[in-house]
Amino acid sequence: MTRIAIVGSGFGGFACAKLLERRLRPGEAEIVLITPKDYSLYLPLLPQVAAGVLQPRSIVAPLHTKLRHAKLLPGVAMDVDLGSRACEVFKISGETVRVPFDVIVLAPGSKTRTFDIPGLAEHARGMKTLAEAVYLRDHVIAQLELAAIAHDPEERASRCGFLVVGGGYSGTETAATLQLVTRKALHRFPGLDPGLVRWTLIDIAPKLMPELGEQLGGAALRLLRHRGIDVRLGVTLERMGEESATLTDGTTLPTRTVIWTAGVTPRPVVASLGTETVKGRLVVGADLMVPGHDGVFGLGDAAAVPDLTNASGAPCAPTAQHAHRQAATAAHNVLAALRGRPLREYRHEDIGLVVDLGGADAVARPFGIDLAGPPAQLVTRGYHLLTAPSGRSKLRITGDWLLNALTGDDLIRLDFLKDSPGTLDDLEHMPVRRGQSRERATAHPR
Ligand SMILES: Cc1cc2nc3c(=O)[nH]c(=O)nc-3n(C[C@H](O)[C@H](O)[C@H](O)COP(=O)(O)OP(=O)(O)OC[C@H]3O[C@@H](n4cnc5c(N)ncnc54)[C@H](O)[C@@H]3O)c2cc1C
Repeated sequence: MTRIAIVGSGFGGFACAKLLERRLRPGEAEIVLITPKDYSLYLPLLPQVAAGVLQPRSIVAPLHTKLRHAKLLPGVAMDVDLGSRACEVFKISGETVRVPFDVIVLAPGSKTRTFDIPGLAEHARGMKTLAEAVYLRDHVIAQLELAAIAHDPEERASRCGFLVVGGGYSGTETAATLQLVTRKALHRFPGLDPGLVRWTLIDIAPKLMPELGEQLGGAALRLLRHRGIDVRLGVTLERMGEESATLTDGTTLPTRTVIWTAGVTPRPVVASLGTETVKGRLVVGADLMVPGHDGVFGLGDAAAVPDLTNASGAPCAPTAQHAHRQAATAAHNVLAALRGRPLREYRHEDIGLVVDLGGADAVARPFGIDLAGPPAQLVTRGYHLLTAPSGRSKLRITGDWLLNALTGDDLIRLDFLKDSPGTLDDLEHMPVRRGQSRERATAHPR
């Protein structure tokens, strides 16, 4: 039977698999979904997991409840050979299999982009996975607990200093929501001077979240500064150690917590195709097909999809909104390719943006209308409820929000990861570990 391989079960891959299941005729093709996770993660609400407002399970959709026919292959796609039309997959068991395909849809998303900054990979923390969010929360609470009993003023200062690098959506939301956590936690630590707890948010760009524009961006900046977050623009991280971080303007901040959210880069499997890339993203046409390779499609963060609504020629931004909508075009074009019909182009009108700054604070632009404060928070939460990946997760999110509003934060560490340093080096790689062999590839049975 014709085989469609889909790589990745995030916004793009999961939505594409669901649509294809619905539209394929019985016996027309089988779908193999290659992904290391057995869920699809709703990343925009990850900062709320770090803040303890939402439980980790609330922002995932189990794949098996939504996909009835697709075969799940739990593993990481390592190499895609376009000549022999096969994908090498490193299974979570440690074995490697070759998966022949007729059509492939690449949606492996992106990982945190790091630079050669001394100390970054060993000490900084990311905000891209559930484990990172849970670990970050534990780490932040642990810093306050340890600061409260520390006698050394230098130790107290470094444990109470928190630095977020990257003023995009994820960095800003993470700084804003976690700062509220530490502010509310102070009642647990009456001996701790509230003035010691400092949050700094830095970005090399001259503006925070430039997509927001002057007015809304200005509102967000004022709100954060009013809340006591030290926002510094035009500056970034130069180096970091265990107890301090030095910025490019020469300032050294005492801190044991650097949260690195300064950009993303596509997952390495994209490069294995050997086709053209732009900043690591797979070059595809507006029909999402890799030029010159029939039946090979790319979408989401991993692909540089031309933005036909933007005259500048820049590709679509790496957003959930794009990945989710591109999935509909990808599913349509996979079927068109199988059935010998014309492909269609991806064209998307922006419906707006939402940024949750914790508590009642938010900024939003639904359909071009600028909102700030509680009305924006209402829109933000409504938007997330509408777009959350399953009915179960919508119910859980609503329940978590209600419970949090009524009972507040329990401020406890779950300690699941107490043997792991929880740094970028540690939590961002896929199951393939250094030194493990990828050589013994066996054929995946049809
Ligand atoms: C904290 C945070 C907040 C965000 N907030 C917003 C927001 O408010 N609005 C918005 O529009 N966007 C937001 N984004 C961006 C948005 O989440 C991404 O643009 C979107 O997830 C991209 O979708 P995707 O399908 O390309 O990749 P993903 O959703 O990341 O999915 C990739 C999938 O591929 C799997 N995978 C990775 N490598 C492999 C491999 N080699 N083989 C097999 N599977 C693989 C992963 O496990 C995952 O299942 C946010 C991102 C973050 C991190």
